[in-house]
Amino acid sequence: MSPSPLPRIAWIGLGIMGAPMAENLLKAGYPVAGYTLEAHKLDRLAAHGGTPAASVREAVRGADVVVTMLPADREVTAVVLGEDGVLAHARTGALVVDMSSIAPRTSAGLAVEAAARGLRMLDAPVSGGEAGAVEGTLSIMVGGEPADFDEAEPLLRALGTTVVRCGPHGAGQTVKAANQLIVAANIQACAEAVVFLEKSGVDLSAALDVLGGGLAASAVLSRKRDNFLARAYAPGFRIDLHHKDMGIVTAAAREVGAALPLGGLVATLVAAARAQGDGGLDHSALLRGVERLSGTTRNAA
Ligand code: NAD
Repeated sequence: MSPSPLPRIAWIGLGIMGAPMAENLLKAGYPVAGYTLEAHKLDRLAAHGGTPAASVREAVRGADVVVTMLPADREVTAVVLGEDGVLAHARTGALVVDMSSIAPRTSAGLAVEAAARGLRMLDAPVSGGEAGAVEGTLSIMVGGEPADFDEAEPLLRALGTTVVRCGPHGAGQTVKAANQLIVAANIQACAEAVVFLEKSGVDLSAALDVLGGGLAASAVLSRKRDNFLARAYAPGFRIDLHHKDMGIVTAAAREVGAALPLGGLVATLVAAARAQGDGGLDHSALLRGVERLSGTTRNAA
């Protein structure tokens, strides 16, 4: 008996993360139809063997699994619930996997809407950045029904190495919000260390080497090391998106009565970076904020 064919995928949102993730599914043999707003990103999908679609409606027609990888709550809600959107045009029984980072409350609400129309939904946000998306080594945190997770798991394993169901609808987003709190605080601490080390006249490269071998080691320190050394801030992960995520984590924490004193401060620093015009830069550019405060502003590479 020949093995059953892989599910047909519709991929909505082919940005910094979505494009390489969709390409990894193509490499794993999944048929992928895609839609995103920019034409050149659809050309890139076609060049990797995918099928560009002219609309969400066209992309999701006949799909078994619909994946969304969109900027924020507004875009996900419009694409899922809109007149020309996923729930209106995907087949009954299809599985919708939203991999964007949005508010847990929004994810839980969309899952209810999906169920009312005979579709199933998972929230499956990711961590690992652009490099993790390209390498297929993302960490994927999932919320939703266990049976739906089991169905999605082989597909998710083509995108990431750590794939964990964290609980019911919205739980994946709650874990992602915690992730973003940890990452922002870590970047801010690394940025402060960089300015402190340079002002003290210590060789920064040597210092980062030895810090990376001790308790201060982190994925942030190793992945963002070159950004710090070269002041190279091409995204990566834009400060605008991290600002959105700090809004999600501070609001969600407030709803459950969790105090985030450090998180609140870091959220303000991320907002300040954006207000200073750095929103389009990689989040490692939080270093620029520390430099401004320390009177040592350098131009971005
Ligand atoms: P991006 O801005 O590069 O890409 C978003 C894509 O969504 C764009 O290509 C755009 O065409 C598409 N889009 C927007 N509205 C649309 C619509 N109505 N219909 C179809 N397509 C639409 O963003 P990204 O960096 O890929 O991030 C996507 C999500 O992943 C965000 O929620 C972000 O927070 C999260 N995330 C990003 C990273 C990272 O390192 N970039 C890491 C982890 C998680």
